[in-house]
Amino acid sequence: MCGIVGYVGFREAYPILIKGLHRLEYRGYDSAGVATINEDGKLSVFKAKGKVQQLEEFVNDKDVSGTIGIAHTRWATHGEPSNINAHPHCSETESLALIHNGIIENYAVLKVELQKQGFTFQSSTDTEVLVQLIEYIKQLNKCDLFTAVQLALNQVVGAYAIAVIEKNNPDRIIAARKSSPLVVGVGAGEFFLASDASPIVEYTQKVIYLDDEEIVIINRDEEPKIVTLLNVEKTPEIKELEMNLSQLERGGYPHFMLKEIFEQPETLKNCMSGRINVEGTNVTLSGIIDHKDKFRFERI
Ligand code: GLU
Repeated sequence: MCGIVGYVGFREAYPILIKGLHRLEYRGYDSAGVATINEDGKLSVFKAKGKVQQLEEFVNDKDVSGTIGIAHTRWATHGEPSNINAHPHCSETESLALIHNGIIENYAVLKVELQKQGFTFQSSTDTEVLVQLIEYIKQLNKCDLFTAVQLALNQVVGAYAIAVIEKNNPDRIIAARKSSPLVVGVGAGEFFLASDASPIVEYTQKVIYLDDEEIVIINRDEEPKIVTLLNVEKTPEIKELEMNLSQLERGGYPHFMLKEIFEQPETLKNCMSGRINVEGTNVTLSGIIDHKDKFRFERI
């Protein structure tokens, strides 16, 4: 599971988002992408296979202005690493852009249902299914984005940290998590979002850690609001970050080597999740599945 960064405030979002992605590079990833909404309400999405630097080179001559945006580093679980499969993913009408860490386990069933409703898909990811589901629910119920996200996540089985922005509302990020970390940074007149505190710590020490099955509504110039999947409102608990940037990067360990040694169990767990199914009878390695006829073994 890889990296999430979000920003809404008074500064240009893109430099903050890119810096945040660089801070999350230590997690490993195969592609990166960014979405911003500019002051004319234009939603721009750029993504590139490879390193964050390749994304920066690609975006170099493009318009990424805007004071709201989301960005992602992907570690492919569903679909090969490619420009199309990289996040953010957009909904059919290109009004929503979504980034996602984790795995939507029931994505195949949901995709078939959406295809029956006329939705088409560009990528092979589970993530695109989620953003289309949110749009479908939004259209069907004529509800706002928060309600659509809440209803959609109630249909989803799996692990996720997500962030969504909407072309028609350039003042709001909706984010949610289950079994994948997400933290909101509370600045003065600005908010940050990230999968860990390292992209946030240089801007603010005030953070809100989301709990499982919580959705946060981050509106420009308003206190963040937290509501659970079961529609219970929670009072956001603002905590003080006790670490500085260099400690965060080393996760509190005195050396990177110690950090890597102690992170091995978690890294192995992340590496396996989404690749071994819950019954434990099957392993899906998306990188080799297209070439499996070339392998001669039947069992490992
Ligand atoms: N399952 C998603 C994908 O394959 C997200 C992977 C991630 O956590 O980066 O695109």
